[in-house]
Amino acid sequence: MLPKFKRVLLKLSGEALLGEQHNGDPFNPKIIEQYAHDIKLVTDLGVQVAIVIGGGNIYRGMNEADSGIERAHGDYMGMLATVINAMAMQAMLEKIGVYTRLQSAINMEQVAEPYIRRKALRHLEKGRVVIFGAGTGNPYFTTDTAGSLRAIEMKADVILKGTRVDGIYTADPEKDPAAVKYEKITFQDCISNNLKVMDMTAFTLCMENKLPIIVFDMNRPGNLLQVVQGMNVGTLVS
Ligand code: UDP
Repeated sequence: MLPKFKRVLLKLSGEALLGEQHNGDPFNPKIIEQYAHDIKLVTDLGVQVAIVIGGGNIYRGMNEADSGIERAHGDYMGMLATVINAMAMQAMLEKIGVYTRLQSAINMEQVAEPYIRRKALRHLEKGRVVIFGAGTGNPYFTTDTAGSLRAIEMKADVILKGTRVDGIYTADPEKDPAAVKYEKITFQDCISNNLKVMDMTAFTLCMENKLPIIVFDMNRPGNLLQVVQGMNVGTLVS
């Protein structure tokens, strides 16, 4: 089946890397391995893939009152956490023969290229998976915002938000058994129904730039391929 998209930005949550088991390790290698295989299926189709990965499994910037750490300082710690996840993802992809480049929004040239938009575009054109680490490089933002921003900069056709739930529901499916999944929804309806797809900054960036979002369950093997083939997986926001 032909892919529906030529270039996608995959936003992976850090927390989803934990998988089902919580044994204290920041990530479950089986999950990263599964992600790598799923990404390979998509690159094998010729789809260009850029990835933004979160850091919530390792560190998340918190309220200063709770952590005792100044907000901006904690946010930089969170951004560094995303680089650890990005390196893990990179290692697993390269292990199965996918060419990758890691670009970081915070300079650390021993482990990553600096973020250079035009260079990233060139990598994508050459079929390399580009992983963007360190979020936007700025405190007070999230990796969802980094995902939206990089997707727009890379002129991706869509942002694929891989999570542990299989789409957007009318209510929290874990709390309300009557909750129903949307197959499609407009940006405006997400706002009117107060549905939290991404944080407001990330969501607004997508809406203003007419960048569609697909929310889907990344922890289900094969799902990413189905999304890229345009099958009815997850929820499309457009
Ligand atoms: N962060 C930041 N600026 C960014 C991206 C991330 O300050 O552009 C920090 C922020 O503290 C955030 C943490 O990095 O809580 C980890 O990212 P996020 O919570 O988005 O990860 P996820 O929820 O996807 O695992």
